[in-house]
Amino acid sequence: MTRPRTVVIVGGGISGLATAYSLLDESAKSGMPIRCTILDSGSLWGGKIVTHRVGEIVTEAGPDSFLSQKQAGLDLCLKLGLADQLINTNATSKKACVLRKGRLHDLPEGLLSFVPKQFGSFLQSGLLSWTGLARMGLECAVPPGPSTDDESLADFLRRRFGTQAFERVLEPLMAGIYAGDAEQMSLRATFPRFFELEQQYGSVVRGMMAAKKAASSVSSDAPKRTMFVSLKNGLADLVTALTQRLTQQGVELHLGAQAESLRVRSHEIGRWMYDLILQDGSALSAEAIVLATPAYVSAELLRPLTPIAGGLLDMIPYASTATIGMTFPRAAASAIEGFGFIVPRTEQRDLIAATWTSLKWPHRAPADQLLARCYVGGVGREDILRLDDDALTIKVRTELAAVCGIHAEPSYTEVNRWWKAMPQYTIGHLDRLAQLDAAVSRYPGLVLTGAGYRGVGIPDCIRDGVVAAKRIVQDLSGETGHARRAQAGMGSA
Ligand SMILES: Cc1cc2nc3c(=O)[nH]c(=O)nc-3n(C[C@H](O)[C@H](O)[C@H](O)COP(=O)(O)OP(=O)(O)OC[C@H]3O[C@@H](n4cnc5c(N)ncnc54)[C@H](O)[C@@H]3O)c2cc1C
Repeated sequence: MTRPRTVVIVGGGISGLATAYSLLDESAKSGMPIRCTILDSGSLWGGKIVTHRVGEIVTEAGPDSFLSQKQAGLDLCLKLGLADQLINTNATSKKACVLRKGRLHDLPEGLLSFVPKQFGSFLQSGLLSWTGLARMGLECAVPPGPSTDDESLADFLRRRFGTQAFERVLEPLMAGIYAGDAEQMSLRATFPRFFELEQQYGSVVRGMMAAKKAASSVSSDAPKRTMFVSLKNGLADLVTALTQRLTQQGVELHLGAQAESLRVRSHEIGRWMYDLILQDGSALSAEAIVLATPAYVSAELLRPLTPIAGGLLDMIPYASTATIGMTFPRAAASAIEGFGFIVPRTEQRDLIAATWTSLKWPHRAPADQLLARCYVGGVGREDILRLDDDALTIKVRTELAAVCGIHAEPSYTEVNRWWKAMPQYTIGHLDRLAQLDAAVSRYPGLVLTGAGYRGVGIPDCIRDGVVAAKRIVQDLSGETGHARRAQAGMGSA
């Protein structure tokens, strides 16, 4: 019988777990038996995915949903038998708002599709002045920018849609996803589709209209999904389904196992062996190692092996945030409707967004309660995280009172701090990734995956895990070893 090849995955967030799952698929397809171990320094699997169930309340400390348009998230749920758990957002309460000069304005529906029929609703919303609206409407006439420069998200959006649309709507909608600063974010690394549409169609709006037309001509029997979907009882069910499946398939899972350093044990032609040293002094040996840890952790693990990779990983900054979950008596917040609101940076508020979770998914709280989730922190706004939980909660309640008139005492409160949690793809990110790939490719069987590189959303992490698994199997079968060494200029040694 063929000797199983050994793989250790460090990091049991969605990226590491999805890599392990894909590795099982790849192992079956290639006929290469693999013995896989996955370890995590924490006490729970799932990394940022943390669901709290308190009585009838279901809250998410980290992500609460994922984009359905990016197929990898849905596909994984379906493969894991979670189809009947997938839920859309509430169809009857869809509206979202944006804060402007202390007042909430409705966001024109379907704004992110940038299709001109929305300009009418922009006008009604009172968010933009006539000149701001006219400037936004001229997007189709703005010539494409150079295809070579890595432009900031802010420069791109201002150039195409004008300053008002950028500051009042697009900045909080788009930079907010990354808890980032649009002035520093790389357009191509964060919203590559906008860059591609501009290059291909000369305009984002024209590109979106073409995409919409093409999509409407394709009929599908698949259930209709809203833009964001979740799981009925919380996203932790995805983690549970994954860990159960991995255990059934013979993957070894270890919590409380912190990786401290990595070294090459031996390398002969076609066979590399690595030692992963854990905090307790023990070592795990494997032919392939996947680092599915945050970039700054991977930097420390890799530095002794490749200081260049360590240095490049250091250049991926991370933002800290916090989510504050609260329930209020519904009667004291009866005017609240829709999904929540976002806060532009120019408003200079502590709050960056709030979601009405129980209006998005009514079963997540008792009918007489409003479950709210508020976000603070992010690039340039992290000072607030130094406050203790009580002071942070008071700040957030003061904002909710001022913006939405919620003055009632919350009957339940939880504060979830996320230190160095949101990777920032700053200008030059893609070039640095290419250099990182070149540095790491000197080590066959060594792969980096995770939110720090090619997408922060859950579907992006899952998709990247699939790519990582394929890469491992190729490396172990010797298919890529030669090509990778040649790419890194190492000859055939
Ligand atoms: C507040 C918040 C809200 C979000 N909302 C959404 C959302 O609604 N939708 C969406 O799609 N995405 C959302 N995201 C982003 C998404 O949740 C993350 O990008 C994704 O979950 C990251 O997964 P990961 O596996 O790459 O990293 P992580 O989840 O960070 O996992 C890394 C794992 O590595 C482990 N680890 C670290 N160091 C070591 C070590 N030395 N040894 C062993 N293990 C180690 C950690 O314990 C952790 O479990 C949100 C993120 C945050 C913080």
